[in-house]
Amino acid sequence: MTKADVIIIGAGPVGLFAVHQLGIKGLKSVVIDNLDKAGGQCIELYPDKPIYDIPAIPECTGEELTKNLLEQIKPFNTQFFYNERVDEVNQEKDLWVIKTNQNNFFKAPNIIIAGGVGSFEPRKLSLKEAEKFEGKSVFYAVKDKNFFKKKNISIFGGGDSALDWALELSKFSKINLIHRRNEFRGAPHTLSEIKKMEKEDKIIIKTPCQLEAIEEHENKITSISVKYDDGKIERIKTDIILSFFGLIMKLGPIAEWGLNMNKKTIDVNPENFETNKKGIFAAGDICSYPGKLKLILSGFHEVALASVECFKRARPNEKFRFEFTTSSKNIQERLGKK
Ligand SMILES: Cc1cc2nc3c(=O)[nH]c(=O)nc-3n(C[C@H](O)[C@H](O)[C@H](O)COP(=O)(O)OP(=O)(O)OC[C@H]3O[C@@H](n4cnc5c(N)ncnc54)[C@H](O)[C@@H]3O)c2cc1C
Repeated sequence: MTKADVIIIGAGPVGLFAVHQLGIKGLKSVVIDNLDKAGGQCIELYPDKPIYDIPAIPECTGEELTKNLLEQIKPFNTQFFYNERVDEVNQEKDLWVIKTNQNNFFKAPNIIIAGGVGSFEPRKLSLKEAEKFEGKSVFYAVKDKNFFKKKNISIFGGGDSALDWALELSKFSKINLIHRRNEFRGAPHTLSEIKKMEKEDKIIIKTPCQLEAIEEHENKITSISVKYDDGKIERIKTDIILSFFGLIMKLGPIAEWGLNMNKKTIDVNPENFETNKKGIFAAGDICSYPGKLKLILSGFHEVALASVECFKRARPNEKFRFEFTTSSKNIQERLGKK
């Protein structure tokens, strides 16, 4: 059980800035995200695109914004829990208890839901049999690359993730890179590295083909069959399938937590961004109130106000004092500046 003053659901730009606003008030937060990294939509949907409406930053990409937000919250040594989807939220007296799909539990008086448009989830293999091997020999992300050492790995996909992991894992495993088209969408320099590895027999490219069947022995994958566009079937020795078909956004479990919902967003009080449940706040794209704009800067404002109310609940015996960062010794100490 991990305890904190505030549990933040979502490591998008708004969840990251929430860490800052809570941190300067002396509150400890933890962040949980279903993805394997911070940045939410900025990093998953438009890492290289310029953003022009972040105050005082004339231009930055989604990736740069995420990097800067992470840099800004470094002094707080916040714990991040990636690859975990928050599934359940339950009340225990004045505290909220959260359970993730990895069976981890978190407890805090406050929750800030900065869940954007819902959790980003991998688009799964369409072959039904793949389901029963999920987490054992079928994976949609790489958590610990040591697990993938000295294996026969079949990687599906034609984008950056598929190419990057094919290259990385080819250092210590045999890789089949399988794609339904002849052209790959990944970065050209990665592709040229892949071609080099192909010449050295470390990566075998198979296109244009798709997964047709999984062959198993005693509940372990032994090989897969792929079907080429011309109908030809090929069997490939495989221990592990890694699939990178991109992500889909799902509101998912958030809809089942008893919160007042407005289509796919959560109703909040715009004075403090509290939902209909005391101690549960929503900010960023996931919240709705009259005049809401789905912009990063609106989310920053929303977590600034929510953090004040979080302080009052986490420190009921202390009075909240509004302070400027330029003149508060307390804040500067928390930022490691004094
Ligand atoms: C192409 C494009 C261009 C854009 N350009 C601009 C722009 O120029 N300026 C601007 O201000 N805005 C822009 N936006 C909008 C901006 O990206 C969003 O407003 C912003 O990302 C919202 O941030 P967020 O933190 O609320 O949510 P998100 O960025 O969506 O992050 C939410 C995170 O929560 C996680 N999550 C959700 N549910 C769960 C759960 N149950 N368990 C665990 N994790 C969960 C998700 O995995 C995700 O990582 C653009 C959006 C797009 C798509």
